[in-house]
Amino acid sequence: MSYRIPLNKIGLVGKETELVSASLKTGCLASGGVFSKRCERLIEELIGGSCFLTTSCTSALEISALLSGIGPGDEVIMPSFTFVSTANAFCLRGGEPVFAEIRRDTLNIDETRIESQINSRTRAIVAVHYAGLSCEMDAINAVAKKHDLLVIEDAAQAFLSTYKERPCGSLGDMGCFSYHETKTFTSGEGGALVVSNADLLPQAEMARDYGTNRSQFMRGDSDKYTWMSLGSSFSPSETVAAILVGQIEVRETILTKRRALHERYQEALSPLVSRGVGWGPQVPSECTVNYHLFYLLARDRRERDALITCFGDKGILATFHFIPLHDSPYARSRGWSGSLPVTEDIAGRVIRLPMFNTLETAEQDEVIDTVLEFYR
Ligand SMILES: *Cc1c(COP(=O)(O)O)cnc(C)c1O
Repeated sequence: MSYRIPLNKIGLVGKETELVSASLKTGCLASGGVFSKRCERLIEELIGGSCFLTTSCTSALEISALLSGIGPGDEVIMPSFTFVSTANAFCLRGGEPVFAEIRRDTLNIDETRIESQINSRTRAIVAVHYAGLSCEMDAINAVAKKHDLLVIEDAAQAFLSTYKERPCGSLGDMGCFSYHETKTFTSGEGGALVVSNADLLPQAEMARDYGTNRSQFMRGDSDKYTWMSLGSSFSPSETVAAILVGQIEVRETILTKRRALHERYQEALSPLVSRGVGWGPQVPSECTVNYHLFYLLARDRRERDALITCFGDKGILATFHFIPLHDSPYARSRGWSGSLPVTEDIAGRVIRLPMFNTLETAEQDEVIDTVLEFYR
């Protein structure tokens, strides 16, 4: 089914086409060429740490699981209200997800409840910055430090968001970004791993290079090019990097446009709060967001589903997500389920509204009117 107003549209508003064409003319299309290097340096300037472009945030998370040394029986604390890749990356190494509860105000992991889930098998905490809004990273880093755990940020939705004036993705040991076409900045498929913990750098480079010391060899730091550790093929081609350079170069244009959309939704829909309808992300003063998505929280599941149907009847795509991981068939089959009342309640009430770089004012008005009419 096609919708007049989709949830998302790719907004190529920079020089992506010219850059792709330039990348094709270099004669190098594999990873690691001039566009990949340019893109990695650009991300390092914006985020800090050391950047490795990947084919997806999923790949970046998989590298982070390798670097964490996760093995069978090791536990990793993460929210259940997230995309499957957050968990799969660690489960692929034999790790066990320990699903944590979220906060009602931010829909991010509840930092005050993490410590009660830590035991001798715990190795890492994954902080997922939902809707581009940072988790309470000071508290998460403090509990991780106390128990000697690694902190991995699933910053798939949070490229260029900040927490206390520091970029999301640079706040833990490693940060993982997504440039999938549904995210604020995109190369179709794509991602990046940013490593802030320098101890992990040599291992990160080798994991990225199929488990070899290729990069050291190329720099002349090693005289043999050989198998050193576990690794895989994680890097995107030059054309993908070229698209991403084009997107990141016009970051201010993209953020300004999306901020305007966010503020219009906020202004028009805030009056519903007195009726018990929520919206988000609501950005506290110590954070900024990249306006990845705007969501409503209906009063209950039935109301949420009725509103989605109402949008559909008008040719507007508004969707819900995520099915909580602890409540999924796979988690149940592995015995990773349990009861997370806040997560279950929130997941039954979230609706994402259309949000993309080229959403017109008249289209946004239609979305807003649909909501207001529904609640009239
Ligand atoms: C989109 C998303 C991912 C996966 O990103 P890909 O680049 O598609 O692999 C992982 N985690 C979260 C929270 C996401 O929103």
